Parts: sequence; C-alpha cells; structure tokens
Amino acid sequence: MGILSSKLAAVKPSQTKAMTALAASLRAEGRSIITLSQGEPDFDTPPNICKAATDAIAAGHTKYTAVAGIAPLREAVADKFRRENGLTFSADQVTVGCGAKQLLFNALVASLDEGSEVVFPTPCWVSYPEMVKLAGGTPIAIETHVADGFILKPEALRAALGPRTKWLMLNSPSNPTGAVYSRADLAALADVLRDFPDVWVLSDDIYEHLVYGEAAFATMAEVAPDLAGRVLTVNGVSKSYAMTGWRVGYAAGPLELVKAMNTVQGQSTSHTCSIAQYAALEALTGDQSFLPDFRTAFRARRDLVVDLLNGIDGLSCRTPDGAFYVFAACDALLGRMAPSGRRIATDMDFAMYLMEEAGVAVVPGSGFLADGFIRISYASSEEDLRHACSAIGAAVAKLAA
Ligand code: PMP
Ligand code: GLU
Repeated sequence: MGILSSKLAAVKPSQTKAMTALAASLRAEGRSIITLSQGEPDFDTPPNICKAATDAIAAGHTKYTAVAGIAPLREAVADKFRRENGLTFSADQVTVGCGAKQLLFNALVASLDEGSEVVFPTPCWVSYPEMVKLAGGTPIAIETHVADGFILKPEALRAALGPRTKWLMLNSPSNPTGAVYSRADLAALADVLRDFPDVWVLSDDIYEHLVYGEAAFATMAEVAPDLAGRVLTVNGVSKSYAMTGWRVGYAAGPLELVKAMNTVQGQSTSHTCSIAQYAALEALTGDQSFLPDFRTAFRARRDLVVDLLNGIDGLSCRTPDGAFYVFAACDALLGRMAPSGRRIATDMDFAMYLMEEAGVAVVPGSGFLADGFIRISYASSEEDLRHACSAIGAAVAKLAA
C-alpha cells in the first residue's frame, strides 16, 4: 500500500501550471522563453489597490478574519452583484476564498457524493474535471464545436443530464476558447434546466470584464431568475484587476450551500489572507476607470495574435469574443516531422516542440479536453506577442510533411 490515495491516481496536475513551471526552469538555465501558458495579465496591480494593502498592514489588519471574509468585503461583493449584474444577495450569501479556484473547489466538496456527476462543456478549463474527481464526483464532458463558436447547445445539454447530475459548470467568457454566451444562449440552456429541477448551475464568471466588440456579458442567475435558487455565481479580482497573486475570489448563492462552503473553508484554509481582502475591497469599491483601458489593450492584442497566427500555414483560429486566450487548431500539423527527426503526433508534442524550437510556452488543447489545439494567452506585452508569433511561424516552417 503506497502513501497516495487512490483518488489521486486519477487526478492530473494542472497543465497550465506544468507548462509555466517548465518555462521557468528553462529560463533559469539561461534559455530565453516567452511564457504564454498562464492566464495572467502582465499589468501591475493598480496603485490604489496596493496602497489599500499597505494601509491594512499599518492598521494592524494582520490577524485571522471571519471564515467567509471580512464583512465590508462581503457587503462590497453584494453591492457589485447588485450594481453590475442585477442580482440581490445578502452579505451572508457571499463567501470569499483563495481565488475563484478555491470557491469552485469548496462548492464541489460541499455538494458532491461518490458517483455525483458534474457536466460541463469542453474545451474547458484544465481544473474542472480534476477538481470534480478530487471532490469524489464524476466529470462528464459535453463536447462543443468550433462551428458553433464553442457554445453548448441545449440538445447536447439535455442528452448529458441524468438522475446523478448535480451541477452544470458554465464559464463565460470561456477559458480556453474565449466564447461568450449571449442572453439567448443562456435562456435556451435554462429552458432545459427547468425540466431537471435537481441540477444546479455553477456559473464561473471570472472573465466577466473581458468582453470585446458586439458581445455582451450575461450570467445565468440574472437571465433566469426563477433558477437563482440553484445557481452559485463565482467571480474574483484576479483577472479583471490584475490581482492573480493576491488570491481573492468570491461566490454568492443560496444560503444553505454558502454555509456548507464556509464549513469546508473553515476546516481547511480558514480564509484568504486578511491583507489581500482589504486590497480586494479597494478593487471593488475604488476607482474603476482603468478597467476599460485594460480591455482596450487586450482587444488590440487579441486582434494582433489572431492575425499573426492565422497567417501561419497549418494554424487557424477564430476571433474569440472574450477572456484573453486564443485557441488555435494545430491538427493540420500533426504527423509532420521536426528537424530532430521526431514526429509531432499530438498537440502535446507540438507544444513541447514550440517550447524547444521557438522558445514559446503554450498549453496543448488536450489539457482542456480538446485534442488538436494549442492555447495561447495574449495577456502579455505586444512586443512579446509579436516575437512569439514570429518564432512560432519559423518553427512551424521547419516541420517537414
Ligand atoms: N476559472 C477559470 C475559468 C479560470 O481560468 C481561472 C484562472 N485561474 C479561475 C477560475 C481561477 O482564478 P483565481 O483562482 O485566480 O481567482
Ligand atoms: N486560469 C489561468 C490559466 O488557465 C491561470 C492558471 C490556472 O490557475 O490554471 O492559465
């Protein structure tokens, strides 16, 4: 009998983290690597938010807090939901944790039994299936297609739901595809969910503020208020406010579930960092004027990367409506031979080839349960993005049919 739990045997490490760690170790050896493998804005956290943190330290806010988070932050989150999403929650219905990631995990641990099923559209974020398994449930992938803009269709949802389904996990704007669900898309899914009263919705809205062009953000609890009693809405400050390292996310939903999530948190991490909570309070209540500037910068980078990648023979991508990822098909290149004589058989082989040959870290689509793609995060400087795309183009040109 080994030390590891049998549950862990089925759980894969995060590929976004693995590719980023590999890039860092190659850089430490002196290689020049551009890291486009982790979804993290390159912008600094705005100074007013940093100041709120140093002020919090000076004021002695360095002790344990309430498990669900400090009261003013939970009030600010409730206010944000009212102001931006038309959703009404009491502060008790809000819980704050170590990033949206931990809140998703808390929700799954609090709700899943052995054999509970969680359905989600793929391509999906690397952590969804693995978190479900860690929480003892069974992940059920519902494939979406590039021809549908990677949007989950109601018939496909209906076919995936059954007596064991506990959750539908939805993520819009989506990591990795950048797909944005319209109100009509969500309303069509809500129609299906009305026939399945025991299925809850985990709405992961972490990229809410990163929507471009004609697309508009919408969230299930607001589009289908009659379902709000079985929706958990998850969000956070990581992406919108360039605060990935602060580890603050939040969630709001029915009290019974939120209380159970607090029990999970109170018996594990206790709460997220007190100082980071004060910084998040400033993020949500302070100056919001930089948000459109971030969005404008991301949009320009998106257009640049989509153009450059589509100019490379063998790669193709649609223009994503949101988040900061381009999900490019590389299946046309699979089977080709690298100059080393190694055949590029899978998207993982291709991602490793790009790391070695082009000095660019990307994540293979298989990590997102979609073979034949690579994901590129364009939350990097324009200069890095230009260099990276040109190095990818040169590396692809060296592949022999
Ligand atoms: N959901 C999705 C879809 C994500 O891409 C991320 C990014 N890490 C998260 C949740 C979690 O973000 P965080 O824990 O930094 O709030
Ligand atoms: N969500 C980001 C990504 O997908 C950050 C890394 C992670 O937490 O997976 O790259």
